[in-house]
Amino acid sequence: MGRVSERVCIVTGAAQGIGRAIGEALLDEGAKVCFADINGDKVAEVAEANRARVSGPDEVVTSAQVDVTDREQVRAMIAHTVETFGRLDVKFNNAGVNKPMKFMDVTEQNWNFIMGVNGLGCMIGMQEAARQMIAQGGGGKIINTASIASRQGFDNVAPYCASKFAVVSLTQSGARDLAKHDITVTGFAPGVVATEMWDQVDRDLMEIGAADRPGQAMEEFSSEILRGRVATPADVTGTTTFLASRDSDYMTGQIVMIDGGMTLV
Ligand code: NAD
Repeated sequence: MGRVSERVCIVTGAAQGIGRAIGEALLDEGAKVCFADINGDKVAEVAEANRARVSGPDEVVTSAQVDVTDREQVRAMIAHTVETFGRLDVKFNNAGVNKPMKFMDVTEQNWNFIMGVNGLGCMIGMQEAARQMIAQGGGGKIINTASIASRQGFDNVAPYCASKFAVVSLTQSGARDLAKHDITVTGFAPGVVATEMWDQVDRDLMEIGAADRPGQAMEEFSSEILRGRVATPADVTGTTTFLASRDSDYMTGQIVMIDGGMTLV
């Protein structure tokens, strides 16, 4: 039996990168997983590839197109998961965006875009998952993706850092409010993880004159990482599966750092 056997999980931002890896690791440990993403075609392909990979007598994979900032779409994603698998046990609020801008150039549009997906999207995701868990009689786990940018400000990404600080406080507030329903809320904070997100970040950094070439920002961060390299998505999935499992049942309100020793607080 796997560590999360039979647990019904939703992972947002699961068409690629960290979210896809979280979902696949959960499947490997026996969970049933709804891969959800705003990119509906791509996330359906991810689900299909996994269906082929873990094929067995029972349906254990599904997918949903969702914009995490739209409450009705979030409700529909949860309803689809419950129709498919009968319940919801674990909800990962992982979808996130970044769009670097120099601090003095940050616009309301840039702020609202990033805070919308990373902040409001996380809050709606927590509320609607909890509503379903409470309707089932309580119990469940909500797990939010924070960041090293939840701990300190970085150059050229002020709204992103603000949004990830918000994820920490939402995790703490949610943990307090939902404890009476036996729902835990935790989070994990990756350092620098090599995903598609960095391709866009590199392009944006070059556009604003903050980098000369792709990969420069990652290289500069690498020198600050005690483990000597940036992470791959596989480096975070041991922790995310642990947070989804019964092994972490006594934890709530906490953020686990997975940054290779980039921050020491
Ligand atoms: P990514 O860009 O590779 O993947 C993010 C996914 O989220 C994409 O598939 C995208 O389509 C989806 N998405 C974007 N907006 C959405 C919306 N409104 N609704 C639903 N889905 C949406 O990014 P990643 O690197 O895998 O990052 C995943 C999470 O980890 C994010 O919350 C990110 O902030 C966080 N994080 C990443 C790093 C890193 O270095 N890559 C570090 C710390 C934290």
